[in-house]
Amino acid sequence: MPNAALPNSFIDSLVKVLGRENVLTDPYDLDRYSGDALSPSRAFGAEESFERLADVVARPGSTEDVSAVLKLANETGAPVIPYGGGTGVMGAVVPAMGGIVLDLQRMNEILAINPTDMTAEVEAGVILEDLESALALQGLMPGHDPYSVPIATVAGTISTNGVGYRAGAHGPMGDQVVALEAVLADGRVMSTRAVPNQSSGPSLKH
Ligand SMILES: Cc1cc2nc3c(=O)[nH]c(=O)nc-3n(C[C@H](O)[C@H](O)[C@H](O)COP(=O)(O)OP(=O)(O)OC[C@H]3O[C@@H](n4cnc5c(N)ncnc54)[C@H](O)[C@@H]3O)c2cc1C
Repeated sequence: MPNAALPNSFIDSLVKVLGRENVLTDPYDLDRYSGDALSPSRAFGAEESFERLADVVARPGSTEDVSAVLKLANETGAPVIPYGGGTGVMGAVVPAMGGIVLDLQRMNEILAINPTDMTAEVEAGVILEDLESALALQGLMPGHDPYSVPIATVAGTISTNGVGYRAGAHGPMGDQVVALEAVLADGRVMSTRAVPNQSSGPSLKH
């Protein structure tokens, strides 16, 4: 069922959490965030999904912000659509039932690079090219190198399990992940332990 537009009181609650400048309701912004690199003319059979725009764009700056937005959304049942660089080609960010587009691009900090472990701890909205530049200073490089590297984000490429030019050697983006902090739909924050994605024994994926 299509989601009715969110009430003003909901937008006010978002503004209290994120600040006015991080809650976008201008028609231009709603249109800009209501799609990715898939055009309606190529959405064979799903063209109608493009008719609905997001009701609001929320721009969290921290895990706590994301958690607060998801708690609010959970109370009202509003759909939430995470948005990275918007380079996906499958229409995955199209808000087919309206709701809240959650733009993660303010969360763009590279928190740590550990050359010994060859790991980096980054926020969801870090652009791959920025990560690549930071790693290069340490003589390292990411294992994922898609053509969309100047725009796509770390979390967007994890979510799509993207495959880039280095996949033959390093596998898809999901194989690069050693640990995740994730916010669940009800706002709870979950952290996984850092573990090597492969150890001894057969790979159960193949
Ligand atoms: C010119 C061009 C070249 C491309 N080349 C390649 C290529 O070589 N290899 C390849 O694999 N793909 C390629 N793509 C596709 C695209 O870049 C990938 O799908 C990329 O992984 C998407 O990243 P994004 O940050 O833009 O995510 P988005 O498009 O913003 O989102 C993709 C999905 O991830 C979800 N998501 C985003 N952020 C989060 C988050 N923080 N938490 C949870 N879910 C989240 C979204 O809801 C959506 O479902 C290309 C696209 C273009 C336009």
